[in-house]
Amino acid sequence: MASDTVMFDLSGRTALVTGSARGIGRRLAEGLSAAGATVVVHGRSAAAAAEVADRIAAATGNPVRSAAFDVTDEAAVDAGISRIEEAVSTPDILVNNAGMQLRAPLTEFTAADWNTLVATNLTSAFLLSKRVARGMIARGSGRIVNIGSVQSQLARPGIAPYSATKGGIVMLTKGLCADLAPHGITANAIAPGYFATELTKALVDDEAFSRWVAGRTPAGRWGDVADLVGPLVFLASDAAAFVNGQILYVDGGMTAVV
Ligand code: NDP
Repeated sequence: MASDTVMFDLSGRTALVTGSARGIGRRLAEGLSAAGATVVVHGRSAAAAAEVADRIAAATGNPVRSAAFDVTDEAAVDAGISRIEEAVSTPDILVNNAGMQLRAPLTEFTAADWNTLVATNLTSAFLLSKRVARGMIARGSGRIVNIGSVQSQLARPGIAPYSATKGGIVMLTKGLCADLAPHGITANAIAPGYFATELTKALVDDEAFSRWVAGRTPAGRWGDVADLVGPLVFLASDAAAFVNGQILYVDGGMTAVV
């Protein structure tokens, strides 16, 4: 039936993907644009975000905007969202993707690095969600998708603070569902397994670790960022209208199998 596929069409929707000038976010922005959305590419560099926006618009033929602000700074988030609302509209779809990784043995991890990780990976999603939710509530609809990780569920040595932030994303997602579901808004999370990006470059370059990832993943390989597009389009679309507060692991089976 035609209506069954039209459910995945994002035409007429505005989507903001934080941290989308590179890595996973960039591929997610491309996917949402290809599904019809007017995407806002975001990063800390206005020039980099604008360049990627132009490339995506040229590839998909759909309008693409760009925005630059620091997701850890509440005043900057407020001003950045206000600019997007004036230029386009309150995003119908918010993807909280911006994040970072820092690695160190636990006893050497500094409190400053802990605070930076919490601000970048967790506080950012809280700040963006509460700011964008104002317009979503007024409109009576919206889709928030947070990016977690297999570290939302499984720890590894050397990254306890990162794991804590990604565990926090799970409960933030459920909390957003609790507050926002009555307003027609869904909040879900995608939790990727291991994907080759700048964030994981140190791991990709480590041959032994790279082999371990493929062996530990039931699918037998690293994730390809394209693997994340279908799950995001689903969660952002009318097809997922009654899916709320859920964590979708896109990890080739890693969290399902010991
Ligand atoms: P990258 O390091 O390639 O990209 C991170 C993005 O986040 C960049 O666009 C960066 O912007 C943005 N960003 C970081 N800090 C800020 C800030 N303070 N303000 C604004 N933007 C910021 O990472 P990935 O693409 O690999 O990761 C994206 C998300 O996916 C993260 O949340 C990560 O934890 C998660 N993830 C990644 C996995 C992987 O295997 N790669 C696995 C599981 C989860 P700028 O361009 O300005 O630097």
